[in-house]
Amino acid sequence: MKAAYYTGNKTFAIESVQPVAPGEGEVQVSVAYCGICGTDLHVFHGVMDARVGTHRVIGHEMSGKIAAIGQKVHGLEIGDPVVIRPLAACGACPACQRGHTHICQNLKFLGLDTDGAFQQAWTVPAHTIHKIPADLSIEHAALIEPVAVACHDVRRARLIAGEDALVIGGGPIGMLIAMVAGHVGAKVTVSEVNAHRLGLAQSLGFATLNPKEVNVAEKIYAQTADKGADVIFEVSGTQAGVDTMTEAAATRCRIVMVAIHGTKPTVDLFKFFWREIELFGARVYEAEDYEEAIKLVASGAIDCNSIITDVRPLEKITDAFQALSGNALAMKSLIKCS
Ligand SMILES: [Zn+2]
Ligand SMILES: [Zn+2]
Repeated sequence: MKAAYYTGNKTFAIESVQPVAPGEGEVQVSVAYCGICGTDLHVFHGVMDARVGTHRVIGHEMSGKIAAIGQKVHGLEIGDPVVIRPLAACGACPACQRGHTHICQNLKFLGLDTDGAFQQAWTVPAHTIHKIPADLSIEHAALIEPVAVACHDVRRARLIAGEDALVIGGGPIGMLIAMVAGHVGAKVTVSEVNAHRLGLAQSLGFATLNPKEVNVAEKIYAQTADKGADVIFEVSGTQAGVDTMTEAAATRCRIVMVAIHGTKPTVDLFKFFWREIELFGARVYEAEDYEEAIKLVASGAIDCNSIITDVRPLEKITDAFQALSGNALAMKSLIKCS
C-alpha cells in the first residue's frame, strides 16, 4: 500500500509499505478520505519537526472502512464505515483519573505523535473508532473530526437557542462553529476580514462584520439593543480578536478560547470584572462530541459541500499542501487516500 511520509522541508514522499497488522485491541482501517488540518499545515512548514520528526505519516481528519480486526476487539465488523477520534490517553495521570482523558497530561495525538491517516491503511486502537451510518457520504464523513471540535466548543459555551453568538474568525473551524451554533438556534454573527470568507458566511445565512470596515463591538451592541453577545468564540488567534472578545461581551458573557495563541495576548481583565465575564478553554473533543458531530453531518445540518474546497489523490498531497498555504480562498482540502 501507499503511505505519504512528511519528510521535512515542505515535502512528502509517497512510499510503498506493508500495512501494519492490527495487534490485540487494534483495528486496521482502509482510509477513504483525510482532510488537511491547520496543524498539518504547521507540520508541513517545519514548525513542528521537533514533535513529529521528519519521517512521519500525518493526518487525522479521516473516514474509512474497517479492513482487519485484531484480537479482543468487539462490536466491529470488516467493512463497517468509521471515523477515528485520534486521541490516546495514558489512563493513569490526574487528568485521566478525573475523567478528562481528552486533555490527558500525557496525551498522544494520533497522526502527530504516531503515524496518521495520509496512507491507504491505518492501524489504530479500537477504542478510537466511531461507527458512522452506512448512508452517510464517506467524503463528508472526513469533516466529522473538525465538526467535533466545533461541537465541543459550543458545548463548553452551554449555548442555547435564542442567544446572540459572535464568532471571531471565519476560517474552517470558525465556520463550523457558526454552523453548529446556528443549529442550536443561536443568532450567529461572524467577524472576519477576508471578503471570500465573509461571502461564504453570508451564503450560509449568518450575519457578518468586517473589523477592517466597522467597529465590531459597536455593531454587536447595536444589533442586540445594547446588550452585547451572550457567547463569544475567539477563533482568530489575534490580539485584535482578543480585544473584541471583551469589548463585545454582554454581562456574564461566556467566552470560549478556541484559537491557539502562540504569544501571550493582552486581555482586558477590567472588563472581565465589570461584566462578570466567564472564559472557557476548549481543546479537541470528547466521545459525545463525536457522536453529536456524526449526527449533524448525517442529518445535513452541516453544509459539507460549502466547506470542502477540493479533493486530490494521495499522490498529489504535496500540491494540496502548497495550494493551501497562505490561501484564504480555501476552506477544507481533502486527500482521497484509497
Ligand atoms: Zn484537525
Ligand atoms: Zn492521562
